[in-house]
Amino acid sequence: MEFGVAERMGRELIAGHGLREWRFGWNRRKRALGLCRYREKRIELSLYFVRDNDERMVRETILHEVAHALAGEKAGHGVKWRAMCAKVGCKAERCDKGAAVMPYGRWRGRCVGCGKEYWRHRRPMRGAKYWCRTCGSEKGKVQFFMQVVEVRGNSKSENGGGRNSKQAQNSNVQNEPAQKIQKAQKAQRLAQGSFGF
Ligand SMILES: [Zn+2]
Ligand SMILES: [Zn+2]
Repeated sequence: MEFGVAERMGRELIAGHGLREWRFGWNRRKRALGLCRYREKRIELSLYFVRDNDERMVRETILHEVAHALAGEKAGHGVKWRAMCAKVGCKAERCDKGAAVMPYGRWRGRCVGCGKEYWRHRRPMRGAKYWCRTCGSEKGKVQFFMQVVEVRGNSKSENGGGRNSKQAQNSNVQNEPAQKIQKAQKAQRLAQGSFGF
């Protein structure tokens, strides 16, 4: 749906539920439809999610986050939050990603020497150097950039190789279980004091 319309709807729903100090915001997350940032008092929507979904899905997501804001951070997706969902009129579902269209990001790298491709599932570590096994550390610097692959929901994960300079190779793609990644992301979100859809 249109960004302007989504933003207006977000502001109206936030204000309409008495969240006076709360604001609406955007983010570029690819695996969370919406986000409730308690510290910043901000309800965010993913630009990618809004771009690719209809008003019903977006509305449902805003209300999901409004219920988080009203229930408080400690409530998580527990009883208190579920009661709040009933109050604001959204489904007390933990995750509606199955029906939402979300892009999936992964990292594609290319050796500046020979052009060979390398894939990483996770963001390349800052400050770490990656180089091509064939060309070596002098000539074979591997530059990574993000590749966005559209997938529907999170039913199927694209798996890239978890490679680094020590084990750069084009075979033996290591698959990370999607659950493990979700767990890590959840831990990260909790650490940031926010709650994803
Ligand atoms: Zn190379
Ligand atoms: Zn949630």
